[in-house]
Amino acid sequence: MPAVFVCGPDNRNLRKRYWRCPSCERITETVVRHGGWWGVDILCCRCGDRWTDGQLRPRPFQRGWRDERRRRHRQLWDAATHGPDPTFEELFPEYAARRPVVDVHLPDDEETP
Ligand SMILES: [Zn+2]
Repeated sequence: MPAVFVCGPDNRNLRKRYWRCPSCERITETVVRHGGWWGVDILCCRCGDRWTDGQLRPRPFQRGWRDERRRRHRQLWDAATHGPDPTFEELFPEYAARRPVVDVHLPDDEETP
C-alpha cells in the first residue's frame, strides 16, 4: 500500500475572533487558525466558508458541505481561546530555543552603527 503524506496547519493555535464575514455580510464568530508556515486561516462558524491569507478557499462540490463545515468550525470554536495572536515561540516551538537575538537595544547616547 503506498504511503500518503498530508501536511498542513494543525489546530494548536486557534483564536476566537468576531469578524465581518464577506459571505455572511455581518459580524459573526470566526476561528482564526495560525498555521506558522501555512499562513492564517479564517473559518466562519455561520456560513462555513474559509479564507487563507485573505483569499476565499474553494468550496467543495458536494451536497451538504455547509452544514458539515459549520459543525466542524463550531468544534474548533469550542477548542479555540480568546487572547492575542500566538507568539513566535508558540508558532515555531522547534525553532524557539535556537532563535537568534534580533532585539538589541543600545543606550540612548550611542549611535547605531
Ligand atoms: Zn460567513
